[in-house]
Amino acid sequence: MMRVTDIAAAAAIAHKNNALLIVDNTFLTPYFQRPFEYGADIILHSATKYLGGHNDALAGLLVVKNDDLAEKLRFIAKTTGGCLSPFDAFLIIRGIKTLAVRMERQQETALKIARWLLKQSAVKKAYYPGLTEHPDYEVSRRQTSGFGGMISFSVRDGRTAVRILESVKIIKYAESLGGVESLITYPSLQTHADIPESERTARGIDDCLLRLSVGLESPDDLIADLEQSFG
Ligand SMILES: *Cc1c(COP(=O)(O)O)cnc(C)c1O
Repeated sequence: MMRVTDIAAAAAIAHKNNALLIVDNTFLTPYFQRPFEYGADIILHSATKYLGGHNDALAGLLVVKNDDLAEKLRFIAKTTGGCLSPFDAFLIIRGIKTLAVRMERQQETALKIARWLLKQSAVKKAYYPGLTEHPDYEVSRRQTSGFGGMISFSVRDGRTAVRILESVKIIKYAESLGGVESLITYPSLQTHADIPESERTARGIDDCLLRLSVGLESPDDLIADLEQSFG
């Protein structure tokens, strides 16, 4: 639903209770958000997404600011064998070299698409933290330097959602996110299928909801593709 957690507030609660705060920074990456500055203790990334950025490698990483914790985590990774192959490590490092330009462009296009979605009669709601009407716009402004390239939106009914998924041509109907190709997913069937239906719908993740990861294609082409898929 593209809600944004206030990291400083979450860190205060964690630390008051003698716990560590772990922040998943996959969507924004260190380019747009640095959770250590707001009190996080561990940052995790699915490097499969924006860091790699090309939908061609699976990787993850943990970032800590304390040597003892780093040593403990390194020991677990080494002894359980969850280490990256040299070639995948190369792909992630190569991806990171263009992270800044990709994030800027993906964010710019995402804002254009979000604003366009708001004007469509088939769209009930568009969720993007960079829209001033987003409930967490102010929290985002405070703790991030950008809003990223992920959007979700609700269409008038489930049939419309399915028609869009079946009709998009440039945008691919596939899971994952953060790569150069725009991908659209159906959370109720894919990413969130393991959540009981009643809980899912209570949170707005119903069969009208679609999630879009905006890639590097021309914004005009992406909007035209969505437009023709709306029928
Ligand atoms: C994809 C994703 C993960 C899991 O990462 P994998 O690389 O697929 O194992 C974790 N957190 C977020 C926010 C993700 O998008």
